[in-house]
Amino acid sequence: MTDILALNNVSKTYKLGQPNQISVLDKVNLKVRKGEVVGLIAPSGAGKSTLLHIAGLLDNPDDGQIKINNVDHTNLHDRKRTKTRRQDIGFIYQFHHLLPEFTAIENLILPQLADGVKTSNAMHRAMELLVSVNLENRAYHRPAELSGGEQQRVAFCRAMVNSPKLLLADEPTGNLDPDTAMHVFKLLMQLVRKTGMSALIATHNYELSKLMDRQVALQKGQLVEV
Ligand code: ADP
Repeated sequence: MTDILALNNVSKTYKLGQPNQISVLDKVNLKVRKGEVVGLIAPSGAGKSTLLHIAGLLDNPDDGQIKINNVDHTNLHDRKRTKTRRQDIGFIYQFHHLLPEFTAIENLILPQLADGVKTSNAMHRAMELLVSVNLENRAYHRPAELSGGEQQRVAFCRAMVNSPKLLLADEPTGNLDPDTAMHVFKLLMQLVRKTGMSALIATHNYELSKLMDRQVALQKGQLVEV
């Protein structure tokens, strides 16, 4: 089966001046196959943001290789890495990071225009996604006029608007109360399953992690199957 993401022997150390070195990732290996949803379980400070940033081509490892869709991106030119990031990878964070001065639908249209999609097509796609998370009645609301769960549902749609192959999510429901988190997370999983995309989702929440295909845990710089 095709690997959408492969990390091979990825290492990262933060150097704060000798001898204060923090080895966050130590020869980490991870494969996420096409259509697979993998949970990344790690206590705070264990290095999950570092791992997600490296997997999402936002940071470089000291050592090792990152393949996206079977293409080695480790030493690719910045322009190519940016293109892959824009077209093939969707990001979701704990906080929505929507543009506050734009409405929900505009937040979904803008990344498509940046990718060269025609305005009418972009509007259609944006509304289709809002319908899929039951937010068609909030399309013309700004983020400040939405609840936390609604903001996060728009952020999910934005991550998917350019149909990425890989979704990287860092505690996507970590900022919500437990009932809303479960409801919103199930919507996210429905979207992911419907599109067949692959996902690596960091969470502390054991109940949520059970909805994924498998889990890996980050312990002392190493990834272990749970
Ligand atoms: P998590 O997302 O699991 O909370 P991080 O990946 O953010 O963990 O950080 C892992 C460890 O590396 C922490 O001890 C953190 O303090 C340290 N760290 C993260 N970023 C930097 C940096 N830019 N410089 C130095 N240390 C860092």
